[in-house]
Amino acid sequence: MKKWYKRLHWQIIIGLVLGLVWGLISSAAGWTDFTTSYIRPFGTIFVDLLKLIAIPLIVASLVVGVTSLNDTAKLSRMGGKTILIYMITTTFAITIGLVVVNVMQPGLALPEETRFSLMESYGGDVEGRGEAAQEVLERSPLQFMVDIVPENLIEATSDNANMLQVVFIAILLGIGLINIPVQEGRALINVFEALNEVIIKIVDFIMKTAPYGVFALMAAVIVDLAGDDLTQALTLLRALGWYCLAVVIGLVLHVLIVYSSLFKIFSKMKLRDFFRAIQPAVLLGFSTSSSAATLPVTMERVEKNLGVNEEVSSFVLPVGATINMDGTSLYQAVAAVFIAQALGLDLTIAEQLTIVLTATLASIGAAGVPGAGIIMLVIVLQAIQVPVEGIALILGVDRILDMIRTAVNITGDAAVSVAVAYTEDLLGDLHFDD
Ligand code: ASP
Repeated sequence: MKKWYKRLHWQIIIGLVLGLVWGLISSAAGWTDFTTSYIRPFGTIFVDLLKLIAIPLIVASLVVGVTSLNDTAKLSRMGGKTILIYMITTTFAITIGLVVVNVMQPGLALPEETRFSLMESYGGDVEGRGEAAQEVLERSPLQFMVDIVPENLIEATSDNANMLQVVFIAILLGIGLINIPVQEGRALINVFEALNEVIIKIVDFIMKTAPYGVFALMAAVIVDLAGDDLTQALTLLRALGWYCLAVVIGLVLHVLIVYSSLFKIFSKMKLRDFFRAIQPAVLLGFSTSSSAATLPVTMERVEKNLGVNEEVSSFVLPVGATINMDGTSLYQAVAAVFIAQALGLDLTIAEQLTIVLTATLASIGAAGVPGAGIIMLVIVLQAIQVPVEGIALILGVDRILDMIRTAVNITGDAAVSVAVAYTEDLLGDLHFDD
């Protein structure tokens, strides 16, 4: 048995806490330049390493997964089930967000002078975000299907934002392989199997550096937030504390209610055991604010520790990292209503229902990268006719909430992969780190 502080998740937590402390000290002592120039790069390298292996990992493990399924009917059944459960959990997330924000009414607690000063400080930053969301709005309704099918293999695999295109290519390759005689495809399958093993080993190597990477990421986030003026950051947090609390309460309720019900229905797994098995992935999601960058670790944990067969995880997780964002959708519901409340706008029941629909679409459309959720929030606000400029009110604390909602997004993907694996009889035993 390892000493507690030698276990990976504790080391990551220690890295997180030390990073937080270092960030605060740098802000208070005016060392932000040092932290930005000499500490932040280690965090960037860590995230880049994870991103680097994401695409080869998806291809290798999905090809291996599909070829071992040996049956395309099973694949489409699994696909349908996955999307259905993803949609259901997202709808619950938004509903919980709406209930919490309507009960707590954080927007009414925002003093008028704070509203003015927030609009003044962050108003200029909103514009770029509006443009990005506008592009999404102007697309044709079926554009998302067109986007899944790449026209060029190299182009598709050269951009981490094209995750669904890569999934498509790997599935196509896998289906091709199970439709030719076994001995003819064997050599290629062997290549992918070997590649898969190698990448899983590389994930292990990268994870050894996780505590240092997380330290650097955390220090950089704090320095970004606080700059050289810690008191200003604290004032901001205090002003928006009620709103932040509403988002956090919503997220906690979602995890406790929806995921434990999911486990009750679809597996006998306990929520506590589930978290014990996947915690490094959740912690990494929190530190990187990116579901996409965390994907390699999520896959490793879900397979090795939760016992989900690769046939399921290799499909459910990359798709989830792109389209399933329960944390983001819940946050969008709370944020939209908060902004409306703060601007003195009453939302009707119909408008609140519109939020359910648009926040589902907005979270599907949000990429698994930092800050994607707030860009897509524009779509929700426009649908309920709340001025997009209101985003300025919440921009200052968004990075913190992004960390928490990303951790929930990852939890959701892992939970659904357990449920799908259970229904397909592809769920093995739990395994904890010693
Ligand atoms: N950062 C989130 C994610 O990667 C997306 C968001 O901004 O809500 O899952």
